[in-house]
Amino acid sequence: MTVSDVVVVGAGFAGLSAAHALVGAGLRTIVLEARDRVGGRVLTRVLPDGTQLDLGGQWVGPTQRHMQRLIAEYGLETYPTPEYGRPILDYGGTRPDRRPDEIVALLDRLDDLSRQIFPERPWDHPRAQEWDTLTLAAWLSTQNAPDTAVRYVGRVIAGGLLSCDAGEVSLLDTLFYVTSGGGTTALLDTVGGAQAYRVGSGAQRLAERLAADLPEGTIRLEEPVRRIVHSPTGAHVETDHGVHPARHVIVAIPPSLAGRIDYSPSLPAQRDALTQRMPAGYALKVHAIYAAPFWRDRGLSGLSTSDSGILTETVDNTPPGSPRAVLTAFAYGIDAHALRRHDPAQRRHLVLDRLAELFGEDARAPEDFIEFDWCDEPWTRGCFSAHPTLGTWTAYGPALRPPIGALHWAGTETASTWNGYFDGAVESGLRAAAEIAPDHRH
Ligand SMILES: Cc1cc2nc3c(=O)[nH]c(=O)nc-3n(C[C@H](O)[C@H](O)[C@H](O)COP(=O)(O)OP(=O)(O)OC[C@H]3O[C@@H](n4cnc5c(N)ncnc54)[C@H](O)[C@@H]3O)c2cc1C
Repeated sequence: MTVSDVVVVGAGFAGLSAAHALVGAGLRTIVLEARDRVGGRVLTRVLPDGTQLDLGGQWVGPTQRHMQRLIAEYGLETYPTPEYGRPILDYGGTRPDRRPDEIVALLDRLDDLSRQIFPERPWDHPRAQEWDTLTLAAWLSTQNAPDTAVRYVGRVIAGGLLSCDAGEVSLLDTLFYVTSGGGTTALLDTVGGAQAYRVGSGAQRLAERLAADLPEGTIRLEEPVRRIVHSPTGAHVETDHGVHPARHVIVAIPPSLAGRIDYSPSLPAQRDALTQRMPAGYALKVHAIYAAPFWRDRGLSGLSTSDSGILTETVDNTPPGSPRAVLTAFAYGIDAHALRRHDPAQRRHLVLDRLAELFGEDARAPEDFIEFDWCDEPWTRGCFSAHPTLGTWTAYGPALRPPIGALHWAGTETASTWNGYFDGAVESGLRAAAEIAPDHRH
């Protein structure tokens, strides 16, 4: 039986990036992927008429340097998020034409505090314990801001960024996430921010290009890893189809899924406890497809953010030259779970009702309505990414990255920069590869 230098578990951006670096360093590497495709949380679907949808992750931003490099390396085209009119800010029943000062003040305060956090070690801050057991909602409620501002900021930060509710994420995790992405402006904005542009052919194409660039036979699809028998000098990785011996293993999957693998011997208690306390967030991303972008005729950009209603955000997601127009809507946390409990027809009705309130009656009659629930995906189980529950950063955070003998940890949830994003996934894969082949850092 051939012994690999490294077995990588998972062919998302983290695993693929790790494999690239390792192969580049001359190490015998294989990637075991549970699904019948690469890319993980990216999934591009092209409808019969050519309308293209990214059902998973889609945007990249100008400060995401790993993604910039990959897009340039593979010569992929990008296009900016369309903004042909005004965005809607649905705020306490009004539609102000700019962010009210009370929202700006709350975001500024979050930015100020976040700059005090080292993203590599959020647990080291002098007030880490206090902030780790305080929810974002509780902190917002002490900021002498109007209820509407508290609700709005809670929804766009906890929902739009962390795909949770403000009542379930800690202030410490929020501050970590904000600093990891370079501040609320970089995280929330379209122009110049994390939602600046999309990959022309769809985000999944980039993952496919990365995979195609690896030596033949490196990627083994439909090989879910069930068990890892490990020692300080190597491991045997067991899938449904066989056993793969290796000197090192990089586990490049979301933490809760990493916790479902059976390790022998068991992992140290701190690492095991961490994976039990990092559940995936929950966002529902749905696409309403229309013959034409009717909202643009009304001077609207299709972008909206709301302090109430089941949809927190919408965006004009129409690719240039697309045969039809796409309005994409997002629900987060409790709203997303509430929608999920309805049957598809009711869910469609509720979403279109809300789109009609925002953009007018034309929104009620899309030609297509496409949804994809990442909670139903056994190899993802939620999205956009996972977050430590209250108290977890300070009690178990230090176990996030350190290798355990032959085992190394990657995946966007282990990144210190752009955690939760593609870019963080790539960073994590390169970091884990560098732990094994330190002289071949990208
Ligand atoms: C709806 C949605 C919208 C998003 N929007 C954006 C966005 O606009 N921009 C952005 O930057 N990010 C976005 N994200 C987040 C982004 O997609 C992720 O951060 C990134 O893709 C994670 O990459 P990863 O390699 O860490 O993990 P994953 O992509 O989850 O890859 C893990 C891989 O491991 C496989 N796997 C799991 N368990 C096993 C096992 N036991 N054995 C073998 N294989 C296994 C999985 O099948 C998967 O292929 C979004 C995500 C979603 C779902």
